[in-house]
Amino acid sequence: MLVSGTGFCQNKDAYESMRNRMVDDQIAGRGISDQATLQAMRKVPRHLFVPVSYLSEAYSDRPLPIGYNQTISQPCVVAYMTELSKPAKGKIALEIGTGSGYQAAVLAEIVDTVYSIEIVPELAKEAAARLKKLGYQNIITKYGDGYEGWPGHSPFDIIIVTAAADHIPQPLKDQLADGGRLVMPVGNPAAVQELILLTKKKGRITEQRLEPVRFVPLKRLKQ
Ligand code: SAH
Repeated sequence: MLVSGTGFCQNKDAYESMRNRMVDDQIAGRGISDQATLQAMRKVPRHLFVPVSYLSEAYSDRPLPIGYNQTISQPCVVAYMTELSKPAKGKIALEIGTGSGYQAAVLAEIVDTVYSIEIVPELAKEAAARLKKLGYQNIITKYGDGYEGWPGHSPFDIIIVTAAADHIPQPLKDQLADGGRLVMPVGNPAAVQELILLTKKKGRITEQRLEPVRFVPLKRLKQ
C-alpha cells in the first residue's frame, strides 16, 4: 500500500514554495540583490501576518488589508526598503508603523534588535502577540505615536517609517546614529509619495529621492 504525505514526504511548510517563488519573481527578479534581505524574505512566514480571509493571497504581488484601514505592504516594497536600510548583524533598528509586524520580522532576521511603534492599539496588541508566538525575542514593540521616535533606545542605525507624511519628523532625524540610514515615504499622504533615503555622516544629513510609492498616512496622537 502506498501512503503519501507522511514521514519525510510530508510537506512541512506548504507555503515555502510560494514564498520562494515570491522572492524569485517579485524580489530577486526585480533587482533586489542583498543576500541578507533575500534570505530573510525567504524565511519569514508572510501568510501568518495576514488575516485568514487573505491567506491564499499572502504571497501575491500586492499590499493586503490588515484591518483598521491599514495594510501590510507589497512584498517587493518591504524588500526594497529593507535593502536600502543596509541591515546587518550588530545594528539596531527602529520601525514606525508595526502594522502586522511583518517588516519588523524581516529586519529582525538580520539585525540585532528591532524597536517598533504602532499607533492603533489593537494592531499593536495583535502584532506583539504574533511576534511573540513566532519566537522573535529581538523585536520590542510598543503602542504610541512614532513621530517622536523612541529616545530611550536611540541612536538607531536604521529607521524605517512605513507610513507617509509630507516631511520627515525631526525627532527621527535626531535619533539617527552617525552612519545611519532612514527610509520613509514622503509626499502627499493622500496620494503618491516618494521613497526618501536619509544618511547621516559626521552629523551631516544627505537626502536621496528614490521610487514613487503609496503608503497609508502617518497619524498623530496629539499635535
Ligand atoms: N510595517 C507594516 C505595515 C504598516 S502600514 C507591516 O509590515 O505590516 C502603516 C502602519 O503605520 C499602520 O499600522 C498604522 O496604524 C501605523 N501608523 C500610522 N501612523 C503612525 C504613528 N504616528 N506612529 C506609529 N504607527 C503609525
